[in-house]
Amino acid sequence: MGVIMSEAPMIGKDILGRPIRDYSKIPWWGVPREEIPWYPRIDYERCIGCGLCFLTCSGRNVYDWDFEKNRPIVARPYNCMVGCNTCANLCPRDAIIFPSIAELRKWRDKAQAVAKARKKIEELKEKVRKEGGSQ
Ligand code: SF4
Ligand code: SF4
Repeated sequence: MGVIMSEAPMIGKDILGRPIRDYSKIPWWGVPREEIPWYPRIDYERCIGCGLCFLTCSGRNVYDWDFEKNRPIVARPYNCMVGCNTCANLCPRDAIIFPSIAELRKWRDKAQAVAKARKKIEELKEKVRKEGGSQ
């Protein structure tokens, strides 16, 4: 099942005052999150320390910032949203590495995410119908 923000416990705040939640114990479509190695790895040879990854990942707080080395730290890898690669897309140096899309789709199929999503949509449709909604 997809993650509902409020299900993840608060574990603190970061240097910007952004709340940090722990998403690592919330299963992804029924599969324990920590069994899915979808998270960023940094190539520090390429990284120029711009900070865009750290500042962009504000909802999941995967990164901390090392002010001495002026580099990101992948502090909470399993907070990364499975399938998201926004920070890698934005990185000006292509210094953020993720598993391949083919790997991602293997996990999708293992989790039966498509069938579960369809079922969920059907349930929601029924709920909307009963409530007389139009969406
Ligand atoms: S966005 Fe890329 S270059 Fe900038 S700090 Fe992150 S990894 Fe380094
Ligand atoms: S891929 Fe998305 S959730 Fe994961 S670290 Fe990057 S911005 Fe955060």
